[in-house]
Formats: sequence, C-alpha cells, structure tokens
Amino acid sequence: MVSRSIRGIRVTASGEMIPAGRRLSAVCARSHYPGSRVANTGLEPPGRPPVGLPSPPVRTAAERRELLKVVYEEARGCTRCPLHETRTTVVFGNGNADADLMFIGEAPGANEDRMGLPFVGQAGKLLDKLLAEIGMERSDVFVLNTLKCRPPNNRDPHPNEIETCNDYLRRQVDLIEPTVICTLGNFSTKLLRADTTGISRLHGREEVRIIGPRAVRLYPLYHPAAALYTPSMLEALRADFHRIPELLALGPPEQPHSFEPIPELQEIEEAAEELQVSGREAEPAAQLGLF
Ligand code: URA
Repeated sequence: MVSRSIRGIRVTASGEMIPAGRRLSAVCARSHYPGSRVANTGLEPPGRPPVGLPSPPVRTAAERRELLKVVYEEARGCTRCPLHETRTTVVFGNGNADADLMFIGEAPGANEDRMGLPFVGQAGKLLDKLLAEIGMERSDVFVLNTLKCRPPNNRDPHPNEIETCNDYLRRQVDLIEPTVICTLGNFSTKLLRADTTGISRLHGREEVRIIGPRAVRLYPLYHPAAALYTPSMLEALRADFHRIPELLALGPPEQPHSFEPIPELQEIEEAAEELQVSGREAEPAAQLGLF
C-alpha cells in the first residue's frame, strides 16, 4: 500500500485518507505491542511475548511529544563534549514528533548551527525535493542528526562525540517511535547498524533492526550533500527514495519479546511532570516550531 500526501492529507493506495500527523501505522498492520519497551539484545525473536511478562507502557502521541520536549530542554544546554564550546546552537532536530518516517544525517553545518534547524542548506533543499516527489513534506517526517552540535570547520564527527551524543538520538527514537529510519550517509548508518560496512554497499537495502527498545525498518540512503555533486549518486538516492512509501506501507515490524524499562525514560517522565506542575513550557521548541 503506497501513500501520498495532498495538502496535509495522506492518501493510501486504497484511497483511504489519513490526516497529517496521524500515523500510517494506525491504519496499516500494527505491531503486537505498539510502543512496547523491549530489551535491546537484538537476539530476541520477534512475536508475541510469553504469557506472564509485564505489559509495556503505551504512551499517547501527546505524551511522547511532551517527553521529547524535556529531552530537547536537556540537549540545548548540553556540555557533555567539547563541541559545546564552538557551537552557536544545539540542533536537536525538527518535524513531526509522531512521524512514521525519520531521517538521520551527520551533523549540523554552518547554516544549521546558525538557525538551530537541521538540513537548511543545499542538502536540505534536495531532501525537500525528494520528499515532494513521494508526496511528503518536512512536517510529515522527523529530521535529526547523529551529532547535535556543529564540528568546527565541518570536520568529520569524532567517535567520542558520536558516542556521547548517541544518548539523545536513542531517546529521540524511543519517543518518536518511527517505523522507518532512513540513515543518510556513513556516520548514522554505521552508528545505527553498529557495524563498519559503508553506505555504498548498503544504500537501498532495508532491514529490520532493534534500535533501543524497538524494532524498526532501517533504510540506509546516500547523504544528500554527497549526491549534490555526484550525478550517479543522485540517481541512486532518488531511486532508493522512491521506495520509501512501499516500506512505510508495510507498517511497523514485529516487536521483540522481552520488556525492560528504560531508566532514562522514567527520569524524563518525572521531569515532564515537574514542568507541568510548575506551568513552565519548553518555550523555544514552540518558538521554532520544532515539533
Ligand atoms: N545538514 C544537516 O543538518 N546535517 C547533515 O548531515 C548535513 C547538512
């Protein structure tokens, strides 16, 4: 089942209309346990959990969005690695906090660092164009990077920076609960696959992977910035991109068996409650229309 988006309404191949923001997975086959929290062993076979295991928490989209704002608040003051000394703005990511489709790039460049938003330069324009070709727009998806802060002079991310920042990325994936994650280029592909195989071998090959607590359809793509200068790469990126609706239409993959509460999520839930009690709002998120 393929879907396309017309003025914020997604239309499936069967003609069903889904308002923007509503997850395709709500109408496609759903996992046995939507929103399930499962151990990140990668070894558990998917399927129904054995009788007697605790039920995983199921959060509404609004609850997950509130929790995401708490993670954003934490990230925007982050000093966990030296990149905080040279950045202008933390680029947390933006788009639909309940998106089925997520794109993970490398790191903010100069424009992103200045504006606080991901993919705002030429690579971002190409991303928008390719999204439009499949009937989608930024507000249908969530776009983020492996690193939240710009490396000086656009140098490659260092392994320690990737490792430090991975905690934010993991929580973003946990809370947004995408069905399909497109990694853009080598850095996010290697990180999410925990493997050194390069993008030229992997692009366009979808696989089910356990990311954090959930199974997702991982779909590596060439980075749009690389495709800007290499016509053959652009052709491959476009062909791979055009298969995204097909992957989305599959719905979420089956989720693994075992459930293990994630301590950080418990902590951010408490922080979110505190924010609500004090009546404070994660204002910059709203200001920037982040999610
Ligand atoms: N802009 C981003 O936000 N990320 C990239 O990886 C490249 C450009």
